Amino acid sequence: MSNKKRIETVCVQGGYTPQNGEPRQIPIIQSTTFKYDTSEDMGKLFDLEASGYFYTRLQNPTNDFVAKKLTELEGGTAGMLTSSGQAANFFAVFNLANCGDHVVCSSSIYGGTFNLFAVTMKKMGIDFTFVSPDVTEDELNKAFRPNTKALFGETIANPACSVLDIEMYARVAHAHGVPLIVDNTFATPVHCRPIEWGADIVTHSTTKYIDGHGVGVGGAIIDGGKFDWLAHADKFPGLCTPDDSYHGIVYAEKFGKEGAFITKCTAQLMRDFGSIQSPQNAFYANLGLESLHVRMARHAENGLKVATFLSKHEKIEWVRFCGLKGDKYYDLGQKYLPNGSCGVLSFSVKGGRANAEKFMKNLKVAAIETHVADARTCCLHPANATHRQLTDKQLEEAGIPPTLIRYSCGIENAEDLIEDLKQSLELL
Ligand SMILES: *Cc1c(COP(=O)(O)O)cnc(C)c1O
Repeated sequence: MSNKKRIETVCVQGGYTPQNGEPRQIPIIQSTTFKYDTSEDMGKLFDLEASGYFYTRLQNPTNDFVAKKLTELEGGTAGMLTSSGQAANFFAVFNLANCGDHVVCSSSIYGGTFNLFAVTMKKMGIDFTFVSPDVTEDELNKAFRPNTKALFGETIANPACSVLDIEMYARVAHAHGVPLIVDNTFATPVHCRPIEWGADIVTHSTTKYIDGHGVGVGGAIIDGGKFDWLAHADKFPGLCTPDDSYHGIVYAEKFGKEGAFITKCTAQLMRDFGSIQSPQNAFYANLGLESLHVRMARHAENGLKVATFLSKHEKIEWVRFCGLKGDKYYDLGQKYLPNGSCGVLSFSVKGGRANAEKFMKNLKVAAIETHVADARTCCLHPANATHRQLTDKQLEEAGIPPTLIRYSCGIENAEDLIEDLKQSLELL
C-alpha cells in the first residue's frame, strides 16, 4: 500500500494522526499560552533551536494540524493559517518584497487583493505592475524589472472567471529568478494543485469553499518547497542574510528550501502583525475540508448546468464559465481543471444595469450577498455593491463590465437554481 494517499482521503484524514487514546477529531486548543519546565526549554523556542508552542499570536497546534492537511492537499512542504485571505496574500508578498521592491501581478484578481496591492502596499513603497491575464510570454517578460521579487495570479479569477496559464507564468517567473505565487481559492486543491504546474507559493481564502458553510473568515499560505532562495540570494536578503531579531539566523540555510519561507513568515510577520486564525475558526475550516472533495464536484456540476442554461437563454448577453465549450478560457480550463472548475460564473442580462438589478431582486433561491463560494447559492452585482464607487469606464478597465453579475452556485439541486433563474428572466 502506498504511503501517499489520494486527495479524497487527505481531505478527510490528512494533517492529524491521533495516537492511542487521543481525540479522533482535531482538538481545539483554546489556550493563548503554553507551559514549560525551565526557561532554557523556552529559550530554545525563542532562538528557533527547537519547534514548539509558546504563544498563540504566532502558532497554535489546532491551526498547525489544519495547515498540515492543506499542505498535504496542495503537495507542499510547509504551511500556515492566517486570520483571512487578505492576510495570507499580504504575508505571502511582504515576506519577499520590501520598500523599494516591485511585483508583477495579473490584473484579473479579487478586488480586495487589488486594493491591498495597488493602494495599501504601494504606500509601503512596494510597486506593482498589473498585466492582462491574457498576456503573451513576451509581454509578461517585459513587465519584469531588476527589483522584481514575485509574480502573482489567481488560478480562477474572482469575479472575472479567467484561468491562469500557471505553467507559462511559472516559466517566466523562474526565468527572472523569482517565485510564482498563486491564489488557489476558487479552484481549491481538489480541482487544481498549482505547485504541480510549477507554482512556488499557494495562498487561500479559506473563508470560501474550504470552509464552505459561511461560518469563519480565514486564510492559508503553503510553500511548495522547491524555490532555491540561496541561488538568488541577492534578491532575497530577508531569507538569505542573518535575521538580527533571531540571533542572526539565516532562514534559507537553517530551514532549507522546504521550510525557510513559512518559518520566516511565522517568526517575523505573524510575530509582528499577529494576524493568526483563531483555533475555533481553524476547527471550522477543517470540518469544511472533510467534505471539500464531495462539495466541489457538486459545485462544479451545478456551475456547468447553470452556465449551459444561461448561455442558451435569449435574454442573456454573455456567460463566462471555463467549463463551457466556446468559453475564452475553455482550453486552459481543460488543462488545469480537468475534473471541473468551481461553482462561480459571471454573466450579463440584456438591457443594461437597471435590468441586472431587477433580475437579481426577483431571484428566490439565490440570495444577494457579498459572499461567494459556499453551500448556499448567492449572487452579487459588483457595479452596485463592492465596486459602486467606480464609474462605468473604470469598471471596464478593471475587467468588470457594469452589467456583470457574479453568480455562485451552491450545492442545492441544479434544477431548482435553473427554475429560479428562468422565472426571474421571464419577469424582465
Ligand atoms: C475572498 C478572497 C480573498 C480574500 O479573502 P478574505 O478571507 O475575505 O480575506 C482573496 N482571494 C480571493 C480569490 C478571494 O475570493
